[in-house]
Amino acid sequence: MIISMRTHTPQEQIDHVCERIREFGYKVSSIVGEERVVIGAVGVGDVTACLESIQAMPGVERAVRISAPYKFVSREFKKQSTRICLDGGEIGGDEFVVMAGPCSVESEKQIIETAESVAAAGARVLRGGAFKPRTSPYDFQGLELEGLKLLAKARAATGLAVVTEVLSEGDVDLVAEYADLMQVGARNMQNFALLKALGKSKRPVLLKRGMSSTIKELLMSAEYVTAYGNPNIVLCERGIRTFETATRNTCDIAAIPVLRELTHLPVVLDPSHATGKRSLVPALSQAAVAIGADGLLVEVHPCPERALSDGAQSLDLAQFGAMMNTLKPHLALWKGARACKELVAVEAGLLP
Ligand code: PEP
Ligand code: MN
Repeated sequence: MIISMRTHTPQEQIDHVCERIREFGYKVSSIVGEERVVIGAVGVGDVTACLESIQAMPGVERAVRISAPYKFVSREFKKQSTRICLDGGEIGGDEFVVMAGPCSVESEKQIIETAESVAAAGARVLRGGAFKPRTSPYDFQGLELEGLKLLAKARAATGLAVVTEVLSEGDVDLVAEYADLMQVGARNMQNFALLKALGKSKRPVLLKRGMSSTIKELLMSAEYVTAYGNPNIVLCERGIRTFETATRNTCDIAAIPVLRELTHLPVVLDPSHATGKRSLVPALSQAAVAIGADGLLVEVHPCPERALSDGAQSLDLAQFGAMMNTLKPHLALWKGARACKELVAVEAGLLP
């Protein structure tokens, strides 16, 4: 924070302001000019409360925050990109990680067949919801514990890691037993009780952007998880609500490079929820590769027309295989660009 005092403020008021800043846990250093004093405050504390208090004090002209309100997840705090280790791989490293599977786990046959097929096509992580956040209480809510057990079977059969959604704080320990990556859905991005509980759990988290959330709010939610003890977070752009109705959501593709600038956390794209239409998924997936995302989260179902949720945006197994094939040349370019970027970063002193 920078606090600019009014011209000719009495020393007593300046001292008082410095004292109050220290009470909030910050270190103070002042620049004394001919006419005015500017106070710098650095450290970790409750910035909002401190600013509010300081702004109300006599002699203060302006108090402004200079660093981002999210600290631990910011690039400023850590230049080197974070790699999230999963069983048999990592997200945010040298591999573009494709996570694929049905919106919901529906049966043993459905999940095993999908897992085997997406693994053969090159996916590294199996997705599938056991606890489903549905707009209507009358829609399929997920198989819950049975669904988690089926995911464990699919993992054992294929070696794929598993990403699955955790809907509530009370389910964190249960889901953590089965998931390699705990998904926080768009509707829960600002469920602070859930974020705190995930902070205390050490399992990596896949944090989806809320449909009406800004990038700053997404990063503040990631900051919650980190501040409560868990720095292992993958961010996911999944489309936001706009006036556009041609797609289910509007894919904010620019969020990916924006996030790469602002944070060291890996960023993936969910082209399925971002568009709501299977025909658009391959194009958006290519865009994610080209723009430098760290991976994809794609909905795939053996028979989309029979899916209990999100069938219209799910690829069938053959379509997913074909998409993975068309992505190959793009992925080769991605690898080259990634290696080259790392080189540039080393030269710029951003990496050791
Ligand atoms: C999902 O991944 O199936 C899901 C419900 O996603 P979102 O939270 O992004 O809507
Ligand atoms: Mn879905």
